[in-house]
Amino acid sequence: MLSECLVLNEDEDFSFHPQLLQMTKLAERIERVKETIASACARSRREVEDVRLVIVTKSAGIEEIEEVVRLGFNHLGENRVLQLKKVAGQVAEFLQQHADDSTMPKTVHWHMIGHLQRNKVRQVLPTASLIHSVDTLRLAEEINGAANKLGLRPRVLLQVNTSNEPQKYGVPVGAATHLAEQIETLPNLQLIGLMTMAPLTRDQDVIRTCFARAHELFCEMRGEKIVGPQFTELSMGMSSDYEIAVEEGATILRIGSAIFAGS
Ligand SMILES: *Cc1c(COP(=O)(O)O)cnc(C)c1O
Repeated sequence: MLSECLVLNEDEDFSFHPQLLQMTKLAERIERVKETIASACARSRREVEDVRLVIVTKSAGIEEIEEVVRLGFNHLGENRVLQLKKVAGQVAEFLQQHADDSTMPKTVHWHMIGHLQRNKVRQVLPTASLIHSVDTLRLAEEINGAANKLGLRPRVLLQVNTSNEPQKYGVPVGAATHLAEQIETLPNLQLIGLMTMAPLTRDQDVIRTCFARAHELFCEMRGEKIVGPQFTELSMGMSSDYEIAVEEGATILRIGSAIFAGS
């Protein structure tokens, strides 16, 4: 009896704090990630506003994704074109259904973060607000041509292989500047930064070296005016290594499993 009363009282208490009711596990996990980003920013004397969180939804169900959007997060990422199109369609419908709810974001920005095949370019262009994974001139040219036909000028990042693992996607560091120069000549896309992935390892020094290399390349390209003033983004850092990425200068973090795992 006593315990029942206690439970009831707790429920009553909660009803006075609607924001607590909304603090689901998912919201708590995002909050924890945001706190971790804030500490990493403080340690490295950076502003939290300069680090964008892209929530990677590839392992999430549609209800979880809708909850993330309801919480106000509207930069989402997928690594496959067909999945991106499907989920983006579902989320657009969800937003439309709640169009008169002023607490909801007006739009969701979709980030294409995975390897992009040339034959999928046309499909992804209308939906993706940033393509993180341009790593060959042929792919850049395909995007440029398709964008021209669609009347678009998509924003892209150059993916750099900073870990020297041969099986990894991304242009080798030594070839990145030349490729950036070539991409800069294409009128129908905007090169706005670099993306990299650290290898799967527990060795923090190896991860840090990769991120530092990307940051160095990023600064070089800007300094030598190989790229324009719109070249401002450095996309690096996932669930297991985003603190290091913030410390090494990331402006975009791509985080999935730290938010969705186990839910
Ligand atoms: C899945 C994925 C992420 C997110 O990885 P988590 O470990 O789940 O945070 C980031 N970037 C790319 C390219 C991915 O494919």
